[in-house]
Amino acid sequence: MFCQVIVDIVHENVASPFTYRIPDMMILEPGQRVAVPFGPREKEGIVLEVSEDCDLDPVRIREVIRPLEDYPAIPQELMELAAEMAEKAHCPLAETLRLMLPAQMRGGRVHVKTERRVMLAIAPEVAIELAKAEKRSRKRAEILRILAEADGISVKVLSESVRDPGDALKKLAADGLVEIFETETLRRPEAAFEAQGDPGFTLTPGQEEALGEILPALQGKGGRFLLHGVTGSGKTEVFMEAVRKTLALGKSAIILVPEIALTPQMVAWFRGRFGPVAAVIHSRLSPGERFDEWRRIRRGDARVVIGARSAVFSPVRKLGLIVVDEEHESTYFSDHHPRYDAREVALSRCERERATLILASATPSVLSFAKARRGDYMLLEMPRRVNERPLPEVELIDMREELENGNRTVLSGALRTALKKCAAKGEQAMLLMNRRGYNSFVSCRSCGYVMKCPNCDISMTYHIGSQDGLLRCHYCGQTLTPPDRCPECGSRYIRFFGAGTQKVEEEVRKLLPGVRTLRMDYDTTSGKDGHGKILEEFRSGRASILIGTQMIAKGLDFPRVTLVGVVAADMTLNLPDYRSRERTFQLLTQVAGRAGRGLEPGRVIIQTYKPEDPVIGYAAAQDYRSFFEDEFRRRRNGLYPPFTLLARILVESPREEAVVCTAETMEKQARELLDKHPDWKKKVLLMMNDTPSVKVLRGKNRRHILMKLLVSREADELIAALTEMTRETDKVTDVWLEVNPTTMM
Ligand code: ADP
Ligand code: ZN
Ligand code: ZN
Repeated sequence: MFCQVIVDIVHENVASPFTYRIPDMMILEPGQRVAVPFGPREKEGIVLEVSEDCDLDPVRIREVIRPLEDYPAIPQELMELAAEMAEKAHCPLAETLRLMLPAQMRGGRVHVKTERRVMLAIAPEVAIELAKAEKRSRKRAEILRILAEADGISVKVLSESVRDPGDALKKLAADGLVEIFETETLRRPEAAFEAQGDPGFTLTPGQEEALGEILPALQGKGGRFLLHGVTGSGKTEVFMEAVRKTLALGKSAIILVPEIALTPQMVAWFRGRFGPVAAVIHSRLSPGERFDEWRRIRRGDARVVIGARSAVFSPVRKLGLIVVDEEHESTYFSDHHPRYDAREVALSRCERERATLILASATPSVLSFAKARRGDYMLLEMPRRVNERPLPEVELIDMREELENGNRTVLSGALRTALKKCAAKGEQAMLLMNRRGYNSFVSCRSCGYVMKCPNCDISMTYHIGSQDGLLRCHYCGQTLTPPDRCPECGSRYIRFFGAGTQKVEEEVRKLLPGVRTLRMDYDTTSGKDGHGKILEEFRSGRASILIGTQMIAKGLDFPRVTLVGVVAADMTLNLPDYRSRERTFQLLTQVAGRAGRGLEPGRVIIQTYKPEDPVIGYAAAQDYRSFFEDEFRRRRNGLYPPFTLLARILVESPREEAVVCTAETMEKQARELLDKHPDWKKKVLLMMNDTPSVKVLRGKNRRHILMKLLVSREADELIAALTEMTRETDKVTDVWLEVNPTTMM
C-alpha cells in the first residue's frame, strides 16, 4: 500500500504531495498525520490519499515512519475545504491544512495529558476483609478501604487521604490486589464565565417568523439566511433556538463571534443552556486547553462551538448550523497568510456539509446585503425591538455652533445637561470616543510639524497617567520624550492636539464630581481579561459612566444604560478608504442601539461637525435601507466593491532603493502580462505604482501597485498570475498580493 503525503514545510518546492510506502500492519486513512523521512530528517505530514499501487520506481520510495495519532486529525470535509482554499488563494496546500489544526499540535508541542489511576483487582467485600485482617501496614489497609468505597480513583486524589501511597500501591499491585493504569484526561478551561440558566422567553412574533423559515432548512438540506434585525430585536434568541433544534436533530453547530472577550454574556448563555456539549475557543486558553477542547470537538463530545473566526475550522461531527454574529465586523477577515474570509469559509462548509448558514447583524455589510438582494441569501428581517420597546431617539448636535457660541470643550451643552440628568436619576451612560489616548498627537502651531514615529511614519500619541508622560507609537511600541521645542522650526509652540478618551473622562469628572466613571480603551484593557473586568464593573452598577473607543459599540447589552453620547461622529468618516462611510454608519447605529435596552427609554446624542452628511442622518434615523441604497449607488458609480476588486502588490523593505526598484520591476512585469493577455487587460480599470499613505511601517519602507479590476473570470486569472509572479522575487524585499484588503494604508 502507498500514500500521498503533504509534508508540513511551507516552501515552493514541496507544494505537491510525496509518495510513501505504508509498512505492513500499519493502517492509514486520508487526513491522518504521519511522521515521514524527508531528506536526512524526519518531518510531519498529512495523508492525502491511500492507493494500492503506484507507478514510481519501488526502490526509491521510502516508508512512513509512524502515524502521529490513530485517527484522522483532519476529517474528510475539512481536507476538501483546505484544497478548495489553497486553490482560491493560490497557495500551497500545506498552508491551508495548517488552519485545520491547533497550532501547537504541529511539531508535537502539546501532548495528550494522562493521569495515573488505581482500581481494585478483587471484589470490594474481599478488599474490606483483607483491610480488617491487615495488621502490619495501616497504609495498605487504608488504601484497600478507600478503594472498596470508590473504585477507580486517581492516585493524586488518593494521596490526599493517604500520604505517599506509592510504595504501598506497588506492593498491592505486585500481590495482584490492585491494578494501576494510565488514562487520558482533558484539561477543561476553567468556567471563567458564570453560567446563566435558560430565561425561558416567549418568542416575539418577529422571532417566530424568522424561526419559521430557519427550522425547516435545519431539518432539510440546509439554507442560507441573512438575519437583519434592528438592535435589540432579539437576534441572539433566534439563533439560540436554531442551535437547540440542531442539537435535537443530532447535529452540531458553530457560532462565530467577532471577539470572544467582548461577548462574555453570549458565552455565559451558551454554557448555561448547553452545558458540557459546549466548547468555547478563545485566545486566553493555554495550548493544552485548546488542544483538549479541539479533541472534545473532534471526538463529537462537544457539539456546540463558540469562538472567533478560526473556530470556523472546528472539526465538529455532523455539522448542521453555522451562525456568524455581527457579520459586518472586519475581524472575520484574516489578512495573515493564508488570507481568508470566515464568512466565505462558513458558506463553503455549509454547502459541502449540507448545513444551514445564518449571518446576523443590525447593520449588514454592503456586500452581504447585496447578495441577499440578489437571492444568494434569504433575507429575514426583524424591524421591531423586543416587547415593543421603542428605538432610541437620536439628536444631532452641530459642534461648529458650539464653538461659535464659545464652548471649546469636547462636550456640547446638550450632552452636559443630559449627563447630569442621567446621573441624578441614578441611570447609566456610555460615551464613545473614536480615538485613544489623552490629547492624542503633538504638533507645532507655528509650522504644522507633527511628531511621528521614526519607524512607522504614523503620528505618535501622548498619554497622561498610566503612561509616563512619553509619546508612544501604537504600531511598534516605540517611545519618545515629548520635545519642548519644535525639531523642525525651533518654535516653543509645540502642543498636544486633539482629544481622546482620557480627555473626555477628565471633563466628565469635572462636570460630575463624585460620579464613578470607567474607561475602556487600548490602554485599560491590555491586562489579562481587561475587557471582562471593566464590563463586569459597569454591569454591576458600581460605575455610572463608561467612556470608551469603538470597543464599547459591539453587541453589549446593558439594560440600565439610558444615555449614549458620541463625542465626534465624523472622526472616521473621511479616512482615505472606500469603506469609511460604511464603517461610520455601522459604528453610529450600533452604539446608538446600546441605549434603552431595558425598561427606561433611551436617548442618544451624536455630536458632529458635519450634521448634513447623509450617512450621519441615516444612522441617526437607524435607517439601514436608505443607507444601503445610497451606498450601493455610490459604489456602482465610483466602481468600488462589490462591482470591482481592489488589489495591490505591496512591497516592503528596510532599504528604500530596494523598494523602489522592486516595485518598478513588479509593475513592468504586470504590464507585460497584460500585453500578453488582452482579455485580462480589458478588465483592468486602474494600475498605479504609488506610495501608500503609511510610507514606513515598523522600520520598513513601503510601496504598492494599486489595481482596480472589474469582477470577472479574467480578473481572477490575472490575480492568479500575479500571485505566482509575487512569489518569485528576491529575498531583499517582502512582496505580496492583497485582494480587497481591510485597509489600503
Ligand atoms: P440584538 O442582538 O438583536 O440586538 P438581543 O438578542 O441582544 O438583541 O436581545 C435584546 C434583549 O431582549 C436581550 O436582553 C434579550 O435577553 C431580550 N430578549 C430577547 N428575546 C426576548 C423575548 N422573546 N422576550 C423577552 N426578552 C427577550
Ligand atoms: Zn515647527
Ligand atoms: Zn512605530
